[in-house]
Amino acid sequence: MNPDKLTRIAGILFDKDGTLLRYDESWGPVNREAARIAAAGNAGLEPQLLFSGGMDPVSGHTRADSLLAAGNAAEIAAGFVSAGSLFDVAELTRLLDELFVRAAEFSVPVADLAGLFARLKARGFKLGVASSDNEESIRQTAIRFGFIDHLDFIAGYDSGHGVKPEPGMVLGFCRAVGLDPGEVAMVGDNNHDMHMGEKAGVGLKVAVLTGTGSRETLSAAADICLDDITALERLLPEKAEA
Ligand SMILES: [Mg+2]
Repeated sequence: MNPDKLTRIAGILFDKDGTLLRYDESWGPVNREAARIAAAGNAGLEPQLLFSGGMDPVSGHTRADSLLAAGNAAEIAAGFVSAGSLFDVAELTRLLDELFVRAAEFSVPVADLAGLFARLKARGFKLGVASSDNEESIRQTAIRFGFIDHLDFIAGYDSGHGVKPEPGMVLGFCRAVGLDPGEVAMVGDNNHDMHMGEKAGVGLKVAVLTGTGSRETLSAAADICLDDITALERLLPEKAEA
């Protein structure tokens, strides 16, 4: 990796699930509940829905870049309906969005997020979250873990910036904080985060291994793979050049 890429970075856009929150611990139980809702009393259908979404119903592990790992509520609802749920997609999307807002209560953070965001903010970085979850869920997570005041930007799939891996969330962040894409680091645990960063022309694509991805699935699309977001503190310049 070219070290010049690092010196320009002045903004960091984080994915949420698998990046700020540990994926399997936070989302395993929520995915099971999502399948229970979508199966509407047909218990035999629940494991089929989980399996179709990319989660092993026995081990609780969710496959990298699968529907449950990377999809938004509308995409998951559509997937469950094609796998046998009798709901209509719009109604199931609404129920899943409600579930995902409640799920913020059960999420498990990767690190002390309040401390990490406060330190990065103090070094001059502009900070944002871009998630395939809905905006209200992101807000609830940021409030619960004490970093809402350090955020300059929040984009969910329903915020009007388009969805991953389209570049709109990154470009919205750039407009909101006055940075060029080349000054932004995109940090995420799925290839759709890396591809969104690529399409927007970000300066640095950082993959983290706290989600559903692995070095094998992520290294081709990322500039660098980190064990978790705390390694950003050593990687990035001491002061962001405004
Ligand atoms: Mg993620």
